[in-house]
Amino acid sequence: MSAPVKIAPAAAVPAPPARPHHVRRRRIHLFFFLVFCALPFFNLMRFDLPKQRFYFAGAEIWINEFAIIFFSLMFLMFGIVALSMIYGRVYCSYACPQMIFSETALALDDALRRWTTKKFIAWPAPRRRFAHLALTYLIIAAASVVLAFVFISYFVEPRDLLRRLIHLDIATSGGFAGAVTTLIAFLDFAFVRQKFCTTLCPYGYLQGMLADRHTLLVQYRDPDHLCIQCKKCVRICHMGIDIRDSPYQIECIHCGECIDACEEIMTKVKRPTVVEYSWGQDGPKLEAEAGKPWWYRLGIRDAKRRIVLLVMLCYASGLAVALSMRNPVLVRINPIRTTSLYRVNAAGEVENQFSVSVSNRGSQNAKVAIAVDSLQGARVEELPNPLSVAPGETTRKDFAVAVPRGAALGDVTHFHFQVEAQPGGRKQTIDMTWLMPPKTKR
Ligand code: SF4
Ligand code: SF4
Repeated sequence: MSAPVKIAPAAAVPAPPARPHHVRRRRIHLFFFLVFCALPFFNLMRFDLPKQRFYFAGAEIWINEFAIIFFSLMFLMFGIVALSMIYGRVYCSYACPQMIFSETALALDDALRRWTTKKFIAWPAPRRRFAHLALTYLIIAAASVVLAFVFISYFVEPRDLLRRLIHLDIATSGGFAGAVTTLIAFLDFAFVRQKFCTTLCPYGYLQGMLADRHTLLVQYRDPDHLCIQCKKCVRICHMGIDIRDSPYQIECIHCGECIDACEEIMTKVKRPTVVEYSWGQDGPKLEAEAGKPWWYRLGIRDAKRRIVLLVMLCYASGLAVALSMRNPVLVRINPIRTTSLYRVNAAGEVENQFSVSVSNRGSQNAKVAIAVDSLQGARVEELPNPLSVAPGETTRKDFAVAVPRGAALGDVTHFHFQVEAQPGGRKQTIDMTWLMPPKTKR
């Protein structure tokens, strides 16, 4: 009897990595989707067009609060410049709602195609395709209503918008805008998807202009000709490009999905991957600089980047100062001298007329007390004192100040209004001028 033949165990094939860039992107997409929904509903960032208000970090900013709006916009603009300069298309690949929903719509489309094929295997192919498309469009249509609602909430108060949606109101501008946005969202996510990024979106072109030799990008580097031409990197790219042509293709959002694909295949054939993240076309790999300081490894690699971040910091400081100095109750008092400079009432007292305007930019009811200072025996008349103003409202009232008959005042006297606003107890002194009749007429 011959001895049994020993079969040598097959060489273990290393397990391919679990698509780390893809998994990380999905988690970050979920995070930014929640941020996208939370910003308008919690007034973290929202423009209210009907009320002409800008909501930022919970504070209601009025459209005439120029300093805060200026610093916010400049900070945002330099933030975009810094982000694009240092990290390239990171916003497009990780945070942009258009990209997040386009990829989700694509994944849904794929999943439903596979599901209908498996579930209705006995059906003829055209019927299966109809079922797959009908289901896909139905779900995208329902999602478009939600997405359009969130999007319009950035410009119209969400509860007001919900009321219009419940009543299917498309006659008012808010309701009409909601209906049009829903339609656009449906067409976009059902048919256009990532084509929007490469044809219509100006931000992609802007980022291309801001990139330089240190900007983070995904590129194919293969000096040793290790690429096995499997084209897995091409098949996985949802932007429809071949990363091996150039790292500077306008379609490339530097998402890293092709890195995962290459790594997966190269692990199987035991070769190093030839697609990678690097700091510029000729720069080092993303992970390759262990001995460098943390800020350098974060991408702050030259004076240009430091200056942009410094400017951004200046605008952030300006914004912080403007917010800390913000007066939630704005009080203005002006004299009324169009019809007469003064008048004498039935009791023989001299009166001057004034107009007060109180803008309550806070979220609570405000009470404003007005007192007269440095004017002998004067009192405020014809005005509820304190004056109550609801949140978000501006109230204007005309009132008079009377001084007793025979008060020893010159023709022109400078005095002050002392104003105290509650809540907060903020005090304000407003300089004013008092006019008396000429001494000959008193
Ligand atoms: S080429 Fe790679 S990095 Fe660029 S979009 Fe396609 S998959 Fe993403
Ligand atoms: S996945 Fe990697 S090995 Fe395959 S074609 Fe692309 S670059 Fe070459």
